[in-house]
Amino acid sequence: MNRLDKIAILGLGLIGSSIAHAARRAKLADDIAGHDASDDVLARAQVLGFCDSLHGDAVSAVAGADVVILCSPVGAYKEIAERIAPHLKPGAILSDVGSVKSAVIRDVGPFVPKGVHFIPAHPIAGTEFSGPEAGFASLFDGRWAILTPMRGTDPQAVERLKEFWQALGSQVDVMNAGHHDLVLAITSHLPHLIAYNIVGTAHDLEKVTQGEVIKYSASGFRDFTRIAASDPTMWRDVFLNNRDAVLEVLGRFNEDLSQLQRAVRNGDGKTLFDWFTRTRAIRRAIVNTGQDVPSFGRLPFQVYIPPPKKRKGAKKKKSAAGKAKKKKPAPRKAARKTARTRRRVR
Ligand code: NAP
Repeated sequence: MNRLDKIAILGLGLIGSSIAHAARRAKLADDIAGHDASDDVLARAQVLGFCDSLHGDAVSAVAGADVVILCSPVGAYKEIAERIAPHLKPGAILSDVGSVKSAVIRDVGPFVPKGVHFIPAHPIAGTEFSGPEAGFASLFDGRWAILTPMRGTDPQAVERLKEFWQALGSQVDVMNAGHHDLVLAITSHLPHLIAYNIVGTAHDLEKVTQGEVIKYSASGFRDFTRIAASDPTMWRDVFLNNRDAVLEVLGRFNEDLSQLQRAVRNGDGKTLFDWFTRTRAIRRAIVNTGQDVPSFGRLPFQVYIPPPKKRKGAKKKKSAAGKAKKKKPAPRKAARKTARTRRRVR
């Protein structure tokens, strides 16, 4: 896409700072302007240096911007939209990254002035970390960004926003807001609710088991704790703003859970085996389409074997096999790679 004069990013946490990093990598704009409600976040963003200009006031951040992106928790959108709306440049694109879309249209839509293109969006990318330090340029690489334009939106503006997200590294899909909210309720919102629930339950149990839940946490539980560490403000706002879709999929989830409960109670191995075989195939499909890695981010911890400690003056012992046959040295390239891999492991 053509280089823009100015992009304004309102909210400089994980997603906002990642957009700034990726926009800079793609040389997308002369001025990547950042604003955050928190002075502390602004000071940290200044040190990290991912914006060209930082603004304590949202109005000065959006002045003259070609693209304005709301990157705060969804609950703050209405107030921000009301404040910046009269100061948006005619022809500008106003967008966002919120994890829900119908509520964003409800909250922001009424304030958008004529001549400004309001196109809600949601990058399906993230981590359990938050704040400006958490952002990185490759967060969106190969991940999906979903645009949910309303009927009547200028198709050329939609095309420009599509190119914007592609320049940040994303693949782009377009769908209506209601459909987005239902899809994300099952793929993202419900899994988070389940994770918050299971970790909360385990914490209650821990009082009974005195620390054993944490001490002996198996990988299944650890994966849930990673999701349940996600930002409380952001996720509170998601559930407050996608209530209907979440309740709909939660109802379906409870029915399926009852079916599994019955299978466990009845010792119905066939139902359990068939169920788990079907879900395993889904996991494989996600990995095969490049939307996750097989290790689920845990591989370095699983394969790391610390090198043996060298003792001063200790002589190398030869095994019986080693004495009989001289070992072939590993190719140099492979040896270098092993050393690099080890250094990365912490
Ligand atoms: P985050 O790391 O917590 O960053 C949000 C930032 O917005 C914080 O610095 C926060 O400041 C600031 N903020 C709060 N109220 C504001 C206001 N009125 N004006 C300006 N800034 C304000 O959260 P995030 O993970 O980047 O999420 C941001 C948005 O991205 C959310 O709408 C979320 O739904 C969406 N999203 C998140 C993910 C994910 O995985 N995290 C993925 C896709 C989309 P304080 O910290 O001082 O409150």
